[in-house]
Amino acid sequence: MRKISLRDLPEERIRGRRALVRVDYNVPVEGGRVRDRTRLRASFPTLRLLLSREARPVLASHLGRPGGAPEPELSLRPVARALGEELGGTVRFAETAGSDEAVEASRGLEDDEILLMENTRFLPGETENDPELSRRLARCGDLFVNDAFGASHRAHASVVGVPGVLRPAVAGLLVGAELEALQRVREGHRSPFVLVLGGAKVGDKIPVLESFLDRADAVLVGGAVANTFLAAAGVEMGRSRVEQEALPAARRLRDRAGSRLRLPGDLIVAARPEATSGAAVAADAVPADSAALDIGPETRELYGAVVEEADLLFWNGPMGLFERPPFDEGTRAVARAAGRATGRGAFTVVGGGDSARAVREAGLSDQFSHLSTGGGAALEFVAAGTLPGIDVLDDL
Ligand code: ADP
Ligand code: MG
Repeated sequence: MRKISLRDLPEERIRGRRALVRVDYNVPVEGGRVRDRTRLRASFPTLRLLLSREARPVLASHLGRPGGAPEPELSLRPVARALGEELGGTVRFAETAGSDEAVEASRGLEDDEILLMENTRFLPGETENDPELSRRLARCGDLFVNDAFGASHRAHASVVGVPGVLRPAVAGLLVGAELEALQRVREGHRSPFVLVLGGAKVGDKIPVLESFLDRADAVLVGGAVANTFLAAAGVEMGRSRVEQEALPAARRLRDRAGSRLRLPGDLIVAARPEATSGAAVAADAVPADSAALDIGPETRELYGAVVEEADLLFWNGPMGLFERPPFDEGTRAVARAAGRATGRGAFTVVGGGDSARAVREAGLSDQFSHLSTGGGAALEFVAAGTLPGIDVLDDL
């Protein structure tokens, strides 16, 4: 399933052409300012390559979920400003993606200029993959580049519709790097292969568990996912976050996995998530008026030891309510252990919006082989081996 990368395209197919790039600039904006520029920077390798070959980058992205109509607070205008500051050079802005004005602006771009178009989800038809909208967007480029890994699991017009009508359609450098890293995880050739699964959205994680259960040497479960597995085993979880709908699946997976699936032996509990301290209790002794908010110290140690010995590691989902210290200790312990594994030569990948944020906030980003920029997309790719937005690109 090798796809053509922007790097594989001969220079003459790029030079002077307008490259319509689907980027993932779904970034946090507050009071008109971009609070985290990680995703902007992640697109720079592709943008720099295009600019160095005198192409004209025309960028399309969504931001939030405006539902097919403009919402001022979800405008990409602040992103255009931040992009200009970060990258240097002129970033022009088009009020409506795919409009005649946007087409005109794309044709008027000069050397080293970039055009960013307004939020594609302001347009009716984007999330429905409307063919007419795809054709309008496609007029803004002479070739298509998908560099929006984090949106590639969505069959939306700007992701799968446009490459259907605009060729060549190639993978950008970020998408290429993501695919390479996640492909290695999927193949699971190294051993011990350890999967760490935490966070909250149990439903999203079940396909990953299904797909890895027979291949991973150990599956370490934490966070609210662990609460759900414990509840499925009949343990009283007090006021802990448990996903009721996922209980049958948790029961079934537990039976299938046997001893390779590990649940926490102890937990940190508190009466309220706002608490500033917690108490360590055995996993089957969560008080009725408390919630489990992190893995406990014994589990930290045990999980850390397994993670440290891994030769291939995929981690999705924090071990606890990491946004509220001290309930970040389990997550930090796993992150540090993963860093030691990387140091020993292991291939370590974090996929998941919140898990990646936890690693970044702990200052440990450089201790992993790869930090995926796509939460849902990374999960879906490691589980299914492909994504709608990748499938449609030109084959090598
Ligand atoms: P990711 O984005 O990495 O895939 P999720 O979105 O599934 O991860 O889950 C992240 C969220 O799960 C975080 O907001 C975190 O606070 C929450 N969480 C983790 N463990 C617990 C817990 N024990 N109780 C409540 N929330 C938890
Ligand atoms: Mg999340």
